[in-house]
Amino acid sequence: MVVESKHAGDDELLEYRARRVWGAKGWTDRSSVWVKGGEVVAVGALPERASRYRTIDLGEVALVPGQVNAHSHAFQRVMRGLSERRDPARSDDDFWTWREAMYGVALSLSAEEVEAAARLAFWEMARAGITHVGEFHYVHHRPDGAPYEDPNELAHRVIAAAQAVGIRITLLRVAYHSGDIGKVAQPRQRRFIEPDVATYLRRLAALEERWGKTPGVSLGSAPHSIRAVDRSWVEAIAEFCSERQMVIHSHVCEQPAEIAASQRAYGMGPVEVLHEWAGLNPRWTLVHGTHMSERELAIVAETRPTICACPTTERNLGDGFLPARELVSAGVPIALGSDSHTVIDPWEEMRLVEYHERLRAQARNVLPACDPQGRIESAAVLWEMGSVGGARALGRSVSGRVEVGQPADFVALDLQSPSLWGASASTLLDHIVLSMSASAVRHTVVAGRLIIEDRRHVHEDALLAGARELMAKRAADVSPR
Ligand SMILES: [Zn+2]
Repeated sequence: MVVESKHAGDDELLEYRARRVWGAKGWTDRSSVWVKGGEVVAVGALPERASRYRTIDLGEVALVPGQVNAHSHAFQRVMRGLSERRDPARSDDDFWTWREAMYGVALSLSAEEVEAAARLAFWEMARAGITHVGEFHYVHHRPDGAPYEDPNELAHRVIAAAQAVGIRITLLRVAYHSGDIGKVAQPRQRRFIEPDVATYLRRLAALEERWGKTPGVSLGSAPHSIRAVDRSWVEAIAEFCSERQMVIHSHVCEQPAEIAASQRAYGMGPVEVLHEWAGLNPRWTLVHGTHMSERELAIVAETRPTICACPTTERNLGDGFLPARELVSAGVPIALGSDSHTVIDPWEEMRLVEYHERLRAQARNVLPACDPQGRIESAAVLWEMGSVGGARALGRSVSGRVEVGQPADFVALDLQSPSLWGASASTLLDHIVLSMSASAVRHTVVAGRLIIEDRRHVHEDALLAGARELMAKRAADVSPR
C-alpha cells in the first residue's frame, strides 16, 4: 500500500493555509503555502493567476518544515518497555546487557513482523512530526542466519513500510561481519552478518538498482562500527560510495569499552581509525560521537562529517553526553536520531542537546554562548539540527524554512495545544523547541501529501493491522509480575 492521499495529485496545485508559517523571514501571519509536484512554488500570494487549485485550510496551526530523524533501527520499537527492569541475578546492567536483549528481539521477528514493526515506528514518527527517516538497517537474514531468496528481502519490506506510511526514507544498508575487533561474529548476530565485502556491495548495488529512482527513497551505506568491519571493508565501501556520491553512516564512540578496544587494537580512537582508513568527509555521518578525544574533535572540525546525536537513547542506555559545546564551537553540523525508539519525539531530541549542556555546565543558554554565528537564542541553534543537519546527513539540502524551492514537507502544530498557549510571534519558536509536547503535531504533509490529518493517519486502520497483531502477541509473551 502506498499512500494515495485523498488530497493528493502530484501535478495538482494546492494551497495550504495556516495561521502562522515559519518562512524565510521568520513567522508570517495568515499565510498560504502553494505546492505543486511535491515542492513549495510560492508563499503568500501566487505570482500568477491560477484558475484551478484546491485549498486545504489547516486551521489554527503553526506550519514548520518536517523533522528529519537521521538514525533509526525501526524493529527496536518492539523492545520498548521490555528492558527497563533490573535482573536481580546480574550485578551489571548497561549498554552491553541491553544489547543482549536486543539480539533476542532481532532473532524473534519474522519478515512480516519486521515490516509491521517498521510501519509502527514510521507511523509514530509521522505523528510526531518526522517526514524523513534514515533507517540504519542491519537485520538482513532469516532467523537461522540463511539469506532470504532475495538477500534484500527485509530491506525491501522496511522501505515498503515507509512508503505505506508516506514518509521519506534513506535506507542505510548495514555492513556487518565480525563480532568485535578481530573476533568472529557470535551466533546471536547471525541475521546481520555477511561473508565478505564484495557480497555486501553487490547487495547494496542491487538495492540501489531496485529503489534508486523511486521518489521518496534513497540509499546509503552503513559500516556498522569498527567492531563489525575491518579496514578492507571500510576502504571498499568508501570507494563504492565515493563513486556514487552516497552517504556513509557509522556508529562511533558510544561506549568507553569500544574506545578502549580501539586503542588496544589500533593505538587510536574510532574516529581516528575511520579517518585513517577511509578519509572522513561531509558525506559521512558519525552516530553518537559521545566520547571523542580532543584529537578526534579536531579531526571532525577539519573534515566536517555530520555528528548524529541520539539523546533520548543515549540517556536510556546510560551512554554519556554529546560534546555539543565543542561541536557547535567548531561549526560541526549536528543531526538527531531516535535510534532505539524508547521515545519518538524529535522536539525532545532537539532540546536535550541544549539541556544536557546546561546540566554539564550548570549554566543556561549554553550553545548560543559558543555559536560561531553569534545567535543568542537556544532555539535558533537547535532548530537547524532537526531539519538542516538531519537532511545533510541523509544527502539532501534543506533550509529549515517553508520557502520557495523547498520540499513540501511540513508539520502543522496546533496553536490551541496547552504547551503552546501564550506564545507570541517573537517566542513561538522558543515554545516549539524548548517546551512543546509532541501531541501538538496536528497534521503532517510529505511531498505535498497530507499523511496525518487531525492526528490520524489517512489510512490508519489498514496501516496498523499487522502492528496491532504483533504487539498483542508480544504483550502475551511477557509474563506479568
Ligand atoms: Zn544505532
